[in-house]
Amino acid sequence: MMPRTSRRVRRLAGAATLAGAVTAGGCAPAISTQQEVQLGQQYAAEINRQLPIVQDPQVHSYINQLGEGIAQRVDRRGIDYTFYVVNSEAVNAFAVPGGFVYVNRGLIDRAGNMSELAGVLAHEIGHVVERHSVEQMQKAQNANLLANVVYGVLLQRPPSGVEQVGIQLGGSAVFAGYSRDAEREADRDAVGFLVASGIDPNGMPSFFEKLLEEQRRSPSTVEQWFSTHPLTAERIDIVNAEIAALPPGSLSNLSRDSQAFRQFRSRVRQLPAPPR
Ligand code: ZN
Repeated sequence: MMPRTSRRVRRLAGAATLAGAVTAGGCAPAISTQQEVQLGQQYAAEINRQLPIVQDPQVHSYINQLGEGIAQRVDRRGIDYTFYVVNSEAVNAFAVPGGFVYVNRGLIDRAGNMSELAGVLAHEIGHVVERHSVEQMQKAQNANLLANVVYGVLLQRPPSGVEQVGIQLGGSAVFAGYSRDAEREADRDAVGFLVASGIDPNGMPSFFEKLLEEQRRSPSTVEQWFSTHPLTAERIDIVNAEIAALPPGSLSNLSRDSQAFRQFRSRVRQLPAPPR
């Protein structure tokens, strides 16, 4: 778990909840964008200490160039995006509140072209734009934050061991799965972001098909992705229907692949083996 981050997160979110608990009978208010960015920075710092983040400047630069190109089309103010490649063969990508997006090398390895990787980045950006990750974290913490207010503030004593466990759950909520509704919302946003940034959105359903296919053959390699992002054939049908419903002509002149992407992917494939 992440005790250091959890303590800080508790302090921050606890302060936010205190006002809400007093004014709204215990219902926590929405976390502001500024608070979300602070929380995200703390989570990201902890994640970067714990996961094998790829430091290669070319790899880091390409993923940020591709991701920022998409994020520029997003109208959620106050969030700057940072993208990291994780040296892990497990197929996965996830977003932390505040605009920190992580993509494993195992996922990059399976992307057949630039638009497939861009589809995943756009989907993760969608989770940030829709505040899915911060809401999930807040849900996990609400009951426990109220206990902090009662015990820690009103009764003037620190939270008990049981309460500490609840606090840590807030940290792991970042890695818990999204609902199907959240997935659909992130997909729908992603289609719009991709088209606006000149990238063919068909890369998203084609990559999802590939992951579903791999799940049939070898479930363990794609387990992380499926446990955090519920993916079904129906979800792919919905994305395809949304693409088909775009105004005529919106799919012309969109890019699917690039030399820069192919160079990036081969560099990722040549990285040192992931740590055990
Ligand atoms: Zn998702």
